[in-house]
Amino acid sequence: MNIDLQPLKQRAAARIDECAAALDGLALAIHDRPELAYEERFASAALADYLSGQGLPVARGVGGVETAFVSETKARGGPTVAICSEYDALPGIGHGCGHNLIAAGGMGAYLGVAAVAAGLNGSVRLIGTPAEEAGAGKVKLRAAGVFDGVDAAMMFHPADADVLDPLMVALRVLHVEFRGKAAHAAASPHAGVNALDALLLGWSAMSALRQLVRSDSRIHGIITEGGQAANVIPERAAARLVVRAADPSYLGDLRRRVLACFEGAATATGCELRHEWGEGMDLVMTNQPMAAAFAENARTLGRELGPRRAGETSGSTDMGNISSVIPSIHPFLSVSAERVPWHSREFAAAARTPRALETMRVAAKALAFTAIDMLARPELMKRAKAAFTPPRSK
Ligand SMILES: [Zn+2]
Ligand SMILES: [Zn+2]
Repeated sequence: MNIDLQPLKQRAAARIDECAAALDGLALAIHDRPELAYEERFASAALADYLSGQGLPVARGVGGVETAFVSETKARGGPTVAICSEYDALPGIGHGCGHNLIAAGGMGAYLGVAAVAAGLNGSVRLIGTPAEEAGAGKVKLRAAGVFDGVDAAMMFHPADADVLDPLMVALRVLHVEFRGKAAHAAASPHAGVNALDALLLGWSAMSALRQLVRSDSRIHGIITEGGQAANVIPERAAARLVVRAADPSYLGDLRRRVLACFEGAATATGCELRHEWGEGMDLVMTNQPMAAAFAENARTLGRELGPRRAGETSGSTDMGNISSVIPSIHPFLSVSAERVPWHSREFAAAARTPRALETMRVAAKALAFTAIDMLARPELMKRAKAAFTPPRSK
């Protein structure tokens, strides 16, 4: 039972080193061509083509999602570990979340494990997971069965600190739309009903609410429609909002209170309010035995992962929805010596430096070693499953 895993890990690391130039090239090429959610045709094809070129099987367009793919080393039995590669970017600021590094790092990890697959009692599956920034791609893929049979799932996320167990909260998207009545804004404003004013009233109420919420909650959004012409009383106005909280029952409470802000504005202005709750993401639940194995592996590579920073929320991810059904980890590895906020131009610049590429390769190795641990140490897999507790409610 007590197999020495060092030779396997050394061979996996050697394979990742062998592919280092290609991994760097892919990370940079994907950075150079940022693609939005569900449009990541260049990135998914570049990754899948490389895998095919290495003689690995690739299924493209899995789960009915054109830009998703899967590659798997199928063992005769045993458990399956999934490694996730994200590759979507943000509108306007490109790879301000560094998913180009997740893409290459996840693939490097998979190449490393695949090189030693014959010595493992189980399979490793690389899942190319589109649309993390919008569209909750992993939720779609899970519903389509792409995660079926997976016993443990993992990925890394670039950050400005090495954090083992980041707080990534649950969220729900809300679309609101006000319908009023158009009229000439100068000749007959009294004949109109102003949908933009309704939206702004609701927005003000929502802003006032923000002062009163718990510190690990967030409410934010954008106005997506505010009228068509300045000389017309706007008949339609719309916004896309996001409500986030760590505690699922508090999230439910906040959802009601945010919606009430806009219902009140509809009453005040005589507009009709239409709303729709959109995609949801779950709280990320870090599996502790898996996280401990990752931390130990990262330590052997010279990286010391710390605990989450007190009082800090690190956004949300659709990996949360995987972590609520499968033992998972989503650690952070730093790509910058200074504090750099995600979703900024500064982070996009930090996601293509030599330091970022080095972190990507370290992540590939740490993920590969952890996947090897999960597949070759049945007692670790058992502890990971024992530590997994699905959430009671959403
Ligand atoms: Zn991200
Ligand atoms: Zn992001």
